[in-house]
Amino acid sequence: ESRMVHGSHIVLYDRPLADQRRRSRIIERDLWQALDRGEFHLRYQPKVNLANGSPTGAEALMRWHHPELGDVSPADFIAIAEANGSIETLGRWALETACREAATWPEPLGVSVNIAPQQFCSGNIASDVESALAASGLRPGRLTLELVESEMLESDATVLRRVESLKRLGVRLSLDDFGTGYSSVGYLSRLRFDEIKIDRQFTTNLGTDPGAQGIIRSVVVLAETFDMKIVSEGIETPEQALFLRLAGCQEGQGFLYSEPLTSAEFRARFAGTGDSGRPPSTARA
Ligand code: C2E
Ligand code: MG
Ligand code: MG
Ligand code: MG
Repeated sequence: ESRMVHGSHIVLYDRPLADQRRRSRIIERDLWQALDRGEFHLRYQPKVNLANGSPTGAEALMRWHHPELGDVSPADFIAIAEANGSIETLGRWALETACREAATWPEPLGVSVNIAPQQFCSGNIASDVESALAASGLRPGRLTLELVESEMLESDATVLRRVESLKRLGVRLSLDDFGTGYSSVGYLSRLRFDEIKIDRQFTTNLGTDPGAQGIIRSVVVLAETFDMKIVSEGIETPEQALFLRLAGCQEGQGFLYSEPLTSAEFRARFAGTGDSGRPPSTARA
């Protein structure tokens, strides 16, 4: 994708379709072996307390360095991994790796791991989580699972049972990208998540769309009703951070605070400094 600016408009020129198809074929062909070849690693994007800028933990984000294609974005390979079933293996690897790395961060910093709907619904997610916790020694309360809204998570008995067994393990549950997909208030009241992550588009549109402000205010009320924490994604400006904090969002994440970091970078920048330690970009903002 290349970006070109025409007057005030940014136009995205997509790769030619034939290129995209070739790329997708290579991604699909190589996904299965890529793990064994050590081509994946995780980056961690800090989450901060909006009131004082201090870190509360980080979200693990998968990265794939392909020998021929270069860096492949999760946006390009997660959907393919869901379609060909490799997401379960990949997801288990992410869970284990994130727990192992986060166990080297000081308490009470936590780690959030994205779980694809398919990974949640097939296999045995609770035993995967249990083994990842046991192998790493990470305290369960330091692990948050981020689930995206999906029809697969519509609350039938199986989904409820899985949610309950995860809660019994003591891990936290977060509803990711809230506002973008299937969502209903009934769903929230039945599944009882610990946290809602408001999708980046609402943060991005704050300055231009009065509707975005209204939606954020109503989600805050909803979260208070169900006693859930609110996290905002995609914070890039101090103005966005200020609005979100005053609206009642407790935590935030975005390039204003930090891009995704390696585990060692995260520990060095955010963990070694005690609680007064603010990330440098917050101090500037
Ligand atoms: P997500 O869970 O909503 O993750 C947030 C995405 O927004 C990340 O993109 C992050 O780098 C990006 N981001 C964070 N702050 C900002 C900001 O201030 N501005 C902008 N423009 N972007 C920001 P990334 O790493 O490309 O991941 C994309 C999506 O891929 C994730 O969305 C998540 O749904 C999925 N994903 C990533 N890692 C995993 C994984 O291990 N398992 C599963 N199932 N999905 C994953
Ligand atoms: Mg997420
Ligand atoms: Mg998200
Ligand atoms: Mg998002």
